[in-house]
Amino acid sequence: MKTKYISTFAAVAVIVFLIAFIACNSGKNKEYTETFFAMDTVMSITAYGPQAEEGINKARQEINRLDQLLSVNNENGITYRINTAGQDAVSVADEPDVKALIEEALTISRLTAGSFDITIGPLVKAWGFTEEEFNVPDDFEIKKLLEKVDFNNIEIGNDSITLKNDSRLDFGAIAKGYAADAAVKALKDAGVKKALVNLGGNIYALGTDEKGEDWIIGIKDPYSEEAILGRISVTDRAVVTSGNYERYFEKDGKRYWHILDPETGYPADSGLVSVTIISDNSTYADAMSTAAFVMGAEKTKEIYELSKDFEYILVTKNGELITSEGVSLK
Ligand code: ADP
Ligand code: MG
Repeated sequence: MKTKYISTFAAVAVIVFLIAFIACNSGKNKEYTETFFAMDTVMSITAYGPQAEEGINKARQEINRLDQLLSVNNENGITYRINTAGQDAVSVADEPDVKALIEEALTISRLTAGSFDITIGPLVKAWGFTEEEFNVPDDFEIKKLLEKVDFNNIEIGNDSITLKNDSRLDFGAIAKGYAADAAVKALKDAGVKKALVNLGGNIYALGTDEKGEDWIIGIKDPYSEEAILGRISVTDRAVVTSGNYERYFEKDGKRYWHILDPETGYPADSGLVSVTIISDNSTYADAMSTAAFVMGAEKTKEIYELSKDFEYILVTKNGELITSEGVSLK
């Protein structure tokens, strides 16, 4: 009797052990997170499932590759080469990302009547945001530099890019979004189905969370260090916020921030302090969040009405919260 009891106990124990072993090693719920620095910001990716680690490694490689290509300060990168080529055509035959990104940027420039403009580079530099040596340029200098800011100065050839009229590229408002799309593709290619990608505030929620439910994303309150405006629940969506409360400097009691109005050359002052765009395309969401910040609430709504291919959450200078019809903030 006793022997039987012990052997039954042992058998159960072996089965329990086996189940636990299989569960751990099947990797079904395996969670893997990596936090790293790229594109001038802190990034983190959390992924679930057996391919989590491999997927994150691939995503990270993609982000680093794009960082090298798109940085205006990397002397060995294609963006730097285009920016220093004068009026000469620069071959992008081996750089499909740069051409694709410029094409997407130009589409959004046209859609927003130039509120989004990747030739804003010379002004961003003059205000000191490129090297973080802040400076308030005088009106004359701004006027001169504005002559170089025009997305129509970018000429796309079959395999080349030419910058006319001394224009300079600046991918600051779109690179992280593009990198997030590339990271999500890398994760998916590796077989990852659930992940949260956060590239310095450019968030992409892939699939569902660990429990199979929609991802819950908190939207930061621009008026508070810790508080959030509320939460949205999303799946397979980019959530990107642009604001004037994180990257700015103050001089003589005035605040100057890093999103500039290509029309005036000064920090965009459309009445908004924060813009969040939700879309299935992170490149689009990143560019549109910057554009909406420049355009203001009314024009953003007009563009929204054209296609409704994104949703928005805006916060105004007066603390008013404006959301598009597809947003449910809880
Ligand atoms: P962040 O990078 O802080 O998330 P954005 O996506 O709004 O914010 O990008 C801001 C950056 O984009 C600036 O630092 C500058 O390099 C560039 N930029 C500023 N104004 C514009 C504009 N009107 N259109 C395109 N790029 C801009
Ligand atoms: Mg942006």
